[in-house]
Amino acid sequence: MRIGIDLGGTTIKAGLVTEDGKIRYKSAIPTGAQRHYTEILADMAKLAIKVCEDTGYSIDDITSIGIGSPGSCDAKNGVLVYANNINFHNVPVREEMQKYINKPIYLENDANVAAYAEYCMGDKNEECFIAVTLGTGVGGGIIMNGKIFSGYNGAGGELGHMVIKKDGAACTCGRKGCWEAYASASALIAQTKRAIIENKNSIMNDMIDGNIDRVDGKTAFDAAKQGDKAALEVVKKYAEYVGCGIANIINIFQPEKVVIGGGISNQGDYLLNPIKEYCTLEVYSGANIGGINIEIAKLGNDAGIIGAALLNE
Ligand SMILES: [Zn+2]
Repeated sequence: MRIGIDLGGTTIKAGLVTEDGKIRYKSAIPTGAQRHYTEILADMAKLAIKVCEDTGYSIDDITSIGIGSPGSCDAKNGVLVYANNINFHNVPVREEMQKYINKPIYLENDANVAAYAEYCMGDKNEECFIAVTLGTGVGGGIIMNGKIFSGYNGAGGELGHMVIKKDGAACTCGRKGCWEAYASASALIAQTKRAIIENKNSIMNDMIDGNIDRVDGKTAFDAAKQGDKAALEVVKKYAEYVGCGIANIINIFQPEKVVIGGGISNQGDYLLNPIKEYCTLEVYSGANIGGINIEIAKLGNDAGIIGAALLNE
């Protein structure tokens, strides 16, 4: 048995996971991100022990504990170098956790962990496998020869922060025109709001009862499926933004597979098909190389726990 922990800005989730990646049990606590890291990590250790005890196991039955965290991680030393949403700066996560639990503790960036989960629970025969998550931001994870690739310092694989439009929309990272600023769920919501304001006749106005704050990542898709012109335009553009980044990724890596996760990926083929079409046109020699393999991710919100649990040396 292993434990996987998904450390987030608002919630810490932990799961008891079998050696082959099946979640047996999970539990969660609020992060309380404004607190000192020693308090947060003490609670995280308690949660890990609790998921064992709740299921009749003891911490001695656990082979390892993996943690997926936002931000840049020094996986080798188990140090969280920087995460803005939990205000961690050079925090020795492994050392701190081992004060409470004397087991191997692994730490990795959450998007890398999610990609690793999708890889491990999939065919597992790709030389290069890439996962992107369309959420509040755009997360990316690169799995190369079965291992997470994140550069010499662990800060690589930030696919969401490649620029697709120089001097374009402002990104939370400080740069302008990042893929994330166009292809995240937050970006889609902003694009939808703009279309609603500019198109008074769109059925999206009725769907939100005139309250712009009710726009979410589904609004444009729902209206587009009913043939609404403004919504169709939003969805088309959005799929192109997502496709643009994926075409860049394919041009650089030529991975055997790219999977798309996050809330927006629930749209399935409705999102996937225009992305595939776009990539076939845009990828270098796209129509000739064949086999651009883009799929919807399979594990949903559990990818964080599963991937963390499966981390190893
Ligand atoms: Zn950025």
